[in-house]
Amino acid sequence: MTPRNWLSEVDLSPANTLQLPSSAEYFCAPVTLKALQDCLRRAHQEMLPIQLLGGGSNVLLPEYLAGLVVHPALTQWWMEPRGDSLLAHVGAGVNWHALVMATVGKGLWGLENLALIPGSCGAAPVQNIGAYGVELADVLEAVEVMYLADGHLAWLSAEECAFGYRESIFKSELLGKVVITRLVLRLKRHAAPVLGYGDLAQRLGESPSSLDVANTVCRVRSEKLPDPAQLANAGSFFKNPLVSAEQARVLLDAYPAMPHFAQQNGTVKLAAGWLIDQCGLKGARFGAFGVHHRQALVLVHFGGGNRPELLAVAEQIAAEVKARFGVLLEIEPRLL
Ligand SMILES: Cc1cc2nc3c(=O)[nH]c(=O)nc-3n(C[C@H](O)[C@H](O)[C@H](O)COP(=O)(O)OP(=O)(O)OC[C@H]3O[C@@H](n4cnc5c(N)ncnc54)[C@H](O)[C@@H]3O)c2cc1C
Repeated sequence: MTPRNWLSEVDLSPANTLQLPSSAEYFCAPVTLKALQDCLRRAHQEMLPIQLLGGGSNVLLPEYLAGLVVHPALTQWWMEPRGDSLLAHVGAGVNWHALVMATVGKGLWGLENLALIPGSCGAAPVQNIGAYGVELADVLEAVEVMYLADGHLAWLSAEECAFGYRESIFKSELLGKVVITRLVLRLKRHAAPVLGYGDLAQRLGESPSSLDVANTVCRVRSEKLPDPAQLANAGSFFKNPLVSAEQARVLLDAYPAMPHFAQQNGTVKLAAGWLIDQCGLKGARFGAFGVHHRQALVLVHFGGGNRPELLAVAEQIAAEVKARFGVLLEIEPRLL
């Protein structure tokens, strides 16, 4: 018998920002740790596979998800003074952008460059969200996780999360093993602007507040990226590829204007959007999907399409980039 707080045969099309048609056999949204443990226990008893879904802004959903989809709805958060800083303890179900605006509204520093990234706080460590020169790893102190197998809780330090560019332990060793339940973030009381990325500094006056920075980031993002509420998308569809210094040098000889960013580990990050644009694909339409006309890194869904069709489009784009530049593009959203 289905527990009272589980829904069955739930339509997930509105629960993913790409609006891919999808439904879940069972769905629950636990609001406490105890309720989450109960869900996991019950799923094990029924031998149901478990999938985690936050705001659905970084997933490619299949037509049908058998088993239980757990949407962690732990929405409490609080602050604790710690020396010169404040530690924010944030439940996995808190909306990321709402948290950013609440903290900058209090004059705190740390999250302002990460404004307007859709989704939940619980998913933020999974791909180490980043924008405008800042990554979650820069502010994260620790993560509380619950093991799916037996519901026990554990803490991971930021170091143990093994963060990299759009990478973390939650995509490797701990993939499918834990649900993130709480983040602890270190926020500063004193001004610490990071304005070196894009034209942020030019757009801001002297001594901006963290709220000014967040508002400017929101404006820039709104100018460049389609709003998923208006046009279905999952943000960047491909990761910016990392290539060897040697490969970057060869490419730069052929394409001197190619944007490139040297990394500390000696590799060079290229702009996937630029590579796609150079293949003449910006604004291209492929049936129900297309490459956004302002940002070639974003694939949009006009309606009526599904995951296999989208993956075929992605493959075609990646093949064109590979043929022209010899660079492999990797899909950023997670395939549940
Ligand atoms: C318009 C747009 C702009 C974007 N801009 C950016 C950007 O600038 N930078 C950036 O980094 N990303 C960006 N993204 C991607 C996305 O917003 C982030 O990856 C975000 O963290 C996803 O959160 P979510 O709650 O929607 O996760 P979901 O899409 O629901 O899930 C993503 C993955 O996390 C897992 N997961 C979800 N919750 C938990 C949990 N509590 N514990 C463990 N695993 C969990 C899921 O199983 C899945 O594998 C953008 C997306 C859109 C649509």
